[in-house]
Amino acid sequence: MKKMTCRELGGACDLEILAETAEEMMSKSAEHAMAINDDAHNKIMEEMKGMKGTEAEGKFMEDFHKNFEAAPEA
Ligand SMILES: [Zn+2]
Repeated sequence: MKKMTCRELGGACDLEILAETAEEMMSKSAEHAMAINDDAHNKIMEEMKGMKGTEAEGKFMEDFHKNFEAAPEA
């Protein structure tokens, strides 16, 4: 299990999210953002949607995978 905070995932709060794989981390952070459903998290979800299929998304995913690898085991 890896542990990352919402903020480390590009989010807006310090909630800790635990996941076995990078894919699970991504989907759990999206679920969290949707569950919180406040302006800060909604804005990030909108930005993510706007990035889809662009170079920015590729860069985001590259950084995300690096951060996931570097995240502490929980
Ligand atoms: Zn959050």
